[in-house]
Amino acid sequence: MRLRQLGEFGLIERIRKATPPGPGVRLGIGDDAAWVECPKRSLLITADLLLEGVHFNLRWTSFYGLGYKTLAVNLSDLAAMGGSPAYLILSLGIPVDFKVEDVEQFYRGIRALASDTGVALIGGDMSAAKRFLISATLVGYAPYGAVRRSGGRIGDDLYVTGTLGDSALGLELLKRKRQKAKRRGIAHLLSRHHFPTARLKAGTLLARERLAKAMIDVSDGLLQDLGHICKASGVGAVVWQDALPLSPAYRNWAGSKGSFYALTGGEDYELLFCLRRRDRARLGKIQKKLGVPIARIGECVPPGEGIKVVNGRGEPVSVPVGGHDHFKPGS
Ligand code: ADP
Ligand code: MG
Repeated sequence: MRLRQLGEFGLIERIRKATPPGPGVRLGIGDDAAWVECPKRSLLITADLLLEGVHFNLRWTSFYGLGYKTLAVNLSDLAAMGGSPAYLILSLGIPVDFKVEDVEQFYRGIRALASDTGVALIGGDMSAAKRFLISATLVGYAPYGAVRRSGGRIGDDLYVTGTLGDSALGLELLKRKRQKAKRRGIAHLLSRHHFPTARLKAGTLLARERLAKAMIDVSDGLLQDLGHICKASGVGAVVWQDALPLSPAYRNWAGSKGSFYALTGGEDYELLFCLRRRDRARLGKIQKKLGVPIARIGECVPPGEGIKVVNGRGEPVSVPVGGHDHFKPGS
């Protein structure tokens, strides 16, 4: 069935029926506003806008995956503040010739991750649109306060969770089309692109233990997001190229691009944080509980030194401009 046949209220009714009640939700979908409990004193609130043709391409993205990723990217923002997620508001612009089943698949992807992370979908809005548009707002708690971008100091260690560059390399291989997903390792890269993991456990633990003094999620490329930390903290940074955590699949497929995608590719959704050197032993003790490996990739230096990538011999490496800026095409 097409959306134009079902209509807005028919679709809302289907979404409402499929949405389970969530913790703290007094009134979810169905009235003029949602009514929820707020057991903690402070909230973290984050929003993301995803546009067809800009952020995703339906030729190689499934509706299920798109739903999953919509929530994942918002969860990642909360993780980067050390928060824990609670309520989701989802507003959609949908072409009227979309199949209802496709929209339902999208919600299935949302629900799969929502139930894993304790998130309740509590409402939203919708309208007809020329292309698919998704606006998601996630509300969560800050049980240990919020870890900002501004707490880095000269001499801090720089750490990153997981591996870098997989998602951007996966996207690059998708664009080249001829690649077969079955080929060894590509499935891993594609899964990192379509189903990113928000590092919620690591984020809250690093906040609780007061280990992360500045933190950001790597969504627009390591160097660009590191730039945000440096600017907010008033420091420069040195990144050790050899220390970048790369997956076996990445090493296998990056070819002549080397660490390019790891340094500048987007959508890793890993956490980048600053640690005081004196806290190294404490970090070591909780490392296993983070739920993801971490790597020390560099250090904070005086602001005048800017941001440098150096090779194993300590020589500066020049990195082609990368990272993502929506208002600078081709950036
Ligand atoms: P109003 O006209 O008062 O804005 P709507 O008819 O748009 O109300 O929405 C009715 C109910 O459906 C509300 O609870 C709203 O939060 C929910 N809702 C609307 N669109 C969505 C959506 N895309 N996803 C989830 N819930 C939605
Ligand atoms: Mg409305």
